Amino acid sequence: MPLLPAPAIEITADQVLLGQGANPNVIRARSPRLITAAEHALAEGLPLLTPRILYQQLNIQKIQPEQIVLENNHTLSGRLPAQQLRHAQSIIVILCTVGEAIEKRSLHYLESNPLHSLALYGVGSAAVEALSTAVCQHFSAQAARHGLLTTIPLSPGLEGWSIEQGQPEIFRILDAAQIGVELLPSGLMRPIKSISLVIGIGQHFDSAARICHFCAKRFGCAFQKQHAPTDR
Ligand code: SF4
Repeated sequence: MPLLPAPAIEITADQVLLGQGANPNVIRARSPRLITAAEHALAEGLPLLTPRILYQQLNIQKIQPEQIVLENNHTLSGRLPAQQLRHAQSIIVILCTVGEAIEKRSLHYLESNPLHSLALYGVGSAAVEALSTAVCQHFSAQAARHGLLTTIPLSPGLEGWSIEQGQPEIFRILDAAQIGVELLPSGLMRPIKSISLVIGIGQHFDSAARICHFCAKRFGCAFQKQHAPTDR
């Protein structure tokens, strides 16, 4: 199963704050010490990252109202993938991770230095998000070279695609052990700083679609203009 060479991960202190669920503009005005904590966590956390990317491209055989039927007897079940991928010719199923070391270091500091622990957690979140964005940009550029477009990246957990539906089907398609990722009975992944997603490739897609449109947090989320996972 193909592995994609991982790009260098470049993230800023602001992205670390976003990874902690904090608004960088507010933090800069009110709590400069959190900026310093984010910078320290970046210096310590970046060398701990072990980014890995696994993917599989599959042709679409049939589109049903709530299911995409793929080659090799695979399926993606759910209203969201069926709607967003209905004009795709093929899909790419992707799994990326930054490994377990950053999460372990964050846990190491949980009691002795909770601020640093949280900032390290933010490094892991920002890093895996940056990695998934880079992967999507890679496949978008590759598609463009063939005159094709890509859809927004879809992940289980968005509205219309439950984790219970999406994760087992994605993990049936991908040999996640190749990059050391495991699906837990809860639907979460280990390492926790991992992202599973699917993009469609084709000629005509809804260019107005945005991930935020399908995110359950959108009504109270202050980050929609400055932070949309994996772009769009
Ligand atoms: S609404 Fe958009 S920016 Fe906010 S959490 Fe969801 S995807 Fe991210």
